[in-house]
Amino acid sequence: MAAMRTLHTAPASFIVTPAPHLVSPTPTPRGALPAKAPPAAAATIQSHARPPLSPRVGRRRPCARAASSGAGAVVASVEDAKRDVLIALSQIIDPDFGTDIVSCGFIKDLEISETLEEVSFRVELTTPACPVKDMFEEKANEVVAALPWVKKVNVTMSAQPAQPVYAGDLPEGLKKISNIIAVSSCKGGVGKSTVAVNLAYTLAGMGARVGIFDADVFGPSLPNMVSPVNRLLVVNPESKSILPTEYLGVKLVSFGFAGQGRAIMRGPMVSGVINQLLTTTDWGELDYLVIDMPPGTGDIHLTLCQVAPLTAAVIVTTPQKLAFIDVAKGVRMFSKLKVPCVAVVENMCYFDADEKRYYPFGKGSGTQVVQQFGIPNLFDLPIRTTLSSSGDTGIPEVVSDPQGDVAKIFQNLGVCVVQQCAKIRQQVSTAVSYDRSIRAIRVKVPDSDEEFFLHPATVRRNDRSAQSVDEWTGEQKVQYGDVPEDIEPEEIRPMGNYAVSITWPDGFSQIAPYDQLDMLERLVDVPLPATAAVASS
Ligand code: ADP
Repeated sequence: MAAMRTLHTAPASFIVTPAPHLVSPTPTPRGALPAKAPPAAAATIQSHARPPLSPRVGRRRPCARAASSGAGAVVASVEDAKRDVLIALSQIIDPDFGTDIVSCGFIKDLEISETLEEVSFRVELTTPACPVKDMFEEKANEVVAALPWVKKVNVTMSAQPAQPVYAGDLPEGLKKISNIIAVSSCKGGVGKSTVAVNLAYTLAGMGARVGIFDADVFGPSLPNMVSPVNRLLVVNPESKSILPTEYLGVKLVSFGFAGQGRAIMRGPMVSGVINQLLTTTDWGELDYLVIDMPPGTGDIHLTLCQVAPLTAAVIVTTPQKLAFIDVAKGVRMFSKLKVPCVAVVENMCYFDADEKRYYPFGKGSGTQVVQQFGIPNLFDLPIRTTLSSSGDTGIPEVVSDPQGDVAKIFQNLGVCVVQQCAKIRQQVSTAVSYDRSIRAIRVKVPDSDEEFFLHPATVRRNDRSAQSVDEWTGEQKVQYGDVPEDIEPEEIRPMGNYAVSITWPDGFSQIAPYDQLDMLERLVDVPLPATAAVASS
């Protein structure tokens, strides 16, 4: 049990391990560098582990001095210097992950000049739209410049290349998209497209590469809300892929740009058209693809969710009492599809006149939404003639009046979406991992600190795919003894929000849904680390 307890205080798999060349030359005892452990846990661990590299214990510069050569203004070697720099940088905590930026693996290409006076490094963020990137840059400069031997600091800011967090077969055109955000409402006319377009341009204004997919083939509104010079989608004759049109740097695809006007189609055709438009488009590298969903909660939504791995959903509604029922429907649909709803936008809430604020539809059901569904973010949008006219002028409000109060609300929504997506990606990518030191598969329960451990062989033996179990007879094809007791996974990657794909040494790729992992026999007493086990045997 001792091993188990240690792991609970120091969940090391939270750490996106710093690049190997950045890791301190000092050997790291197991559990020494807690990533998400609260400060109290960090302090406990610091006392018996690796003092100089424990970052957050109410110290600033002294730790750097302690680690440097002791001469005050000099360091003995490049290795010592790098160590000092990493210690200094580990004082900077990413507010979204609650972890220092060194443990997050953000520090890349750390170089020290031969004279041991000049430091260069890159801070690689998860998204170019990171709302705290300026703060990171400033702080990184500040804490490194404060080291006694440093004369010059060169910090470069960059972002990770766009890539989905999910493994599995994605259509070619979606392979370089980091986050897909569905903007959805249960009814038409509530302002869903207005929110989708303004959110997209806000994210682009924050520095992200953005696309909008207008999935409403019955009444595509994107062509009225933006004014691209080229109003027709072009097909690349060689690759046969659709090339999006573009307005102010945002890539756009809509049935309304397909040159066919409004569609008179039946359900299956609609799904087919949406599928084709979404998947055969060459979106290129995108940080965020905003999907303006068709209204409702029907088949088209299922199709979309099956084709595109949605990262998160934003629900748009109006303040009427009845609208609560709509929001509930939307939240339930996304929850079934395992897509987290990160924000609710209550549109057309109020207007200001004669220096007074009027709520023509009553005060919304926002608080109820927050309480009942645990959606933490609620945004109120006013009724504005400028918002409705921007739908006709083809210039989104956040572009035509970037300093206005509506733009400010969208800025807050944009920050919320960026932060929530980053958290979801982090959660998804660390939900199931393999801890080599204790030879156990670690499963983190979403939205809680709870975690449990599984024996790799148990997971493999419980595979339910056709390779292991006869689909018709239910007969077990892979027998208990066929799976070696000491089998270890080679790679574990998330498959959507519902499963992981585990690659085993024999090349077998197992799809293990979270629900199934939850049912397996758990390791109560996690084995000792491999090295200790060998030593004691
Ligand atoms: P949906 O996508 O839900 O059908 P739209 O975004 O197309 O809704 O909006 C419907 C109409 O309402 C459009 O003419 C739009 O310009 C207008 N509109 C949306 N939000 C507001 C608002 N907050 N104030 C004024 N007009 C709005």
